[in-house]
Amino acid sequence: MTVKGRILTGDRPTGKLHLGHYVGSIANRIRLQDEYECFFIIADLHTLTTRPEREHIAQLGDNIHEMVLDYLSAGIDPEKSAIFLQSAVTETFELNLYFEMLTTVPRLERVPSIKDMAQAAFLDAMPFGLLGYPVLQAADILLPRATLVPVGKDNESHVEVTRELARRFNFLYGEVFPVPEVLVGEVPSLIGTDGQAKMSKSLNNAIFLSDDEKTVNDKVRNMYTDPARIRADIPGKVEGNPVFIYHDAFNPNVDEVNDLKERYTQGKVGDVEVKRKLAAAINAFLTPFRERRAQYEAKPSLVREVIRAGTARARVEAAETMRRVRDAMGMYRLD
Ligand code: ATP
Ligand code: MG
Repeated sequence: MTVKGRILTGDRPTGKLHLGHYVGSIANRIRLQDEYECFFIIADLHTLTTRPEREHIAQLGDNIHEMVLDYLSAGIDPEKSAIFLQSAVTETFELNLYFEMLTTVPRLERVPSIKDMAQAAFLDAMPFGLLGYPVLQAADILLPRATLVPVGKDNESHVEVTRELARRFNFLYGEVFPVPEVLVGEVPSLIGTDGQAKMSKSLNNAIFLSDDEKTVNDKVRNMYTDPARIRADIPGKVEGNPVFIYHDAFNPNVDEVNDLKERYTQGKVGDVEVKRKLAAAINAFLTPFRERRAQYEAKPSLVREVIRAGTARARVEAAETMRRVRDAMGMYRLD
């Protein structure tokens, strides 16, 4: 089979992965890992943009371990795809600096998610590194010369910066980089169980890929639904209702979902039944994850081996890219 191109995407190791990460990006990674050569980055340097303190750095090891177990249990195959550690590919620092020269502060200030991240981290002034978040991401994406970047909706504007930097570099120095396409997931931004904001590990509104059956049942039972519906015989709203958004995303039984929606809008079904069926669907969806996780957890050294092998592969590509970059730029050399 011919390879269609290269993928780079990844996540910051700030905690466990949830259903939002899955529908936004991980589902596409799994779907495409046979057709594309895949590089999945553990973006530990990106965590420093908002959390540079030692106590946060001290948590990275555990977070990385959990996240890679999440990847593997979701079905990312380390034989096919390289899972690698960003800070261990030192070319990242070098390309990041070259790219910093090719964009402007006002351009980066227009990236909507950056201000949100500063606010969420309670920072009252913008750190230089946080403003540069999308520039560092461009270095990640372009080091393996990726052509496709599967991410959630909130990340689309970052990939736009990557595309501009690739074009700018190629224009100034010659064709080195592909201009990568963004691929947003089937559910571009999954709402949280609270129905108030996107699912996020810091907002206490997430169902994690590693949650057990009882935890899923409890979280679904407490989910936000149509607030106007105080009794089961009042017609309810399906649109924008998180319970039905999740049914659409995770319940493969379309007839059951359609039947529930119809009865819900007629006031002929209680929240209890809708939620019971949703919890069952999410648990069925997560069952293979749980089985794979148990297998991987039984081999404690596996995660480190996977990251080591993936990082070795990423380094080969990064070294080749930097050779081309230095050639193209014509920097004065001592050798
Ligand atoms: P969280 O929002 O839970 O704190 P995060 O923002 O730290 O997660 P990132 O590492 O920034 O996670 O994002 C990893 C990937 O997952 C990105 O592609 C992002 O767009 C996607 N993603 C995160 N949350 C969601 C969501 N609720 N719906 C869809 N995609 C999401
Ligand atoms: Mg995010």
